[in-house]
Amino acid sequence: MQKNSYSGKFIVIEGLDGSGQSTQTGLLRDFLIKKGQEVILTKEPTRDSEAGKKIKEILDEKIRIEPQKLQDLFAQDRKEHLEKLIVPALKEGKTVISDRYFFSTFAYGAADGLDLEWLIKLNNDFLSSDLIFILKVSPEVCVQRIEKRGEGIKLFEKKEKLEKVWKTYEILPSRFKNVYMIDGEKTIVEVFSQIKDIIKKRR
Ligand code: ADP
Ligand code: MG
Repeated sequence: MQKNSYSGKFIVIEGLDGSGQSTQTGLLRDFLIKKGQEVILTKEPTRDSEAGKKIKEILDEKIRIEPQKLQDLFAQDRKEHLEKLIVPALKEGKTVISDRYFFSTFAYGAADGLDLEWLIKLNNDFLSSDLIFILKVSPEVCVQRIEKRGEGIKLFEKKEKLEKVWKTYEILPSRFKNVYMIDGEKTIVEVFSQIKDIIKKRR
C-alpha cells in the first residue's frame, strides 16, 4: 500500500452497520474544525462514480452480482474517490475523514466468502490511511440501533451477517499499522473521548 506523503492527514472510521460511524465521523469533523484544521468529511461507497451508483443498486437488492464482482466495483469506486477527492484534498493540506475505506472491503468481502488475501491484493495500490478507528459494537447492539433508526431490514439475517463481518474486523489491528479498536458500546460522548485521546497521544 502506498504511504501518505501528502501534507494532509487521512483518518478512517470503520465498523459494523449501526456501530456509530456516521455519528463519530461528524463529531471528529467538528472537533478538528474547531482546532483550526480544514476538514473534508466523506464516505464510501460514494454516490458519484458509475461504480458507486451500481453498488447502491446492489446493496438495495435491485440487482444481483457475484461477491467478487461487487468488490471489483468497490475498488473502482475507491480509485475514483482517491483521485477526485481524497488525494487533491490531502495535497492541499486538508484533513480527510472517511466513513469507511478498504477495511470495509476486507471485512464485508470476507463475510461473503472471498479470500482475505485476494481482497488485500485488490486494494494493494491504494493510499494507506494514517489513522484507523474500528468501532467495536456487538451485532446484537448494532441491530437494535438499526431497528430504532427504522430501516426495513431483515434483522435476523442482518445479525448473522454482521457476526461474520466482525470476524475479520477483529483481526485487522494485528495485521495493519495504526488501527485502533474503540469500545463503541459506551455513550456517544464516551466513544468520542476515546478517539480524541488517541489523536492527542499521537501528536
Ligand atoms: P453507522 O453510520 O455506523 O451505521 P450511525 O452513526 O448512523 O451508525 O448510528 C446508528 C444509530 O445508533 C443512530 O441512531 C445513532 O444515533 C445511534 N448511536 C450511535 N452511537 C451510539 C452510541 N454510542 N450509543 C447509543 N446509540 C448510538
Ligand atoms: Mg453511517
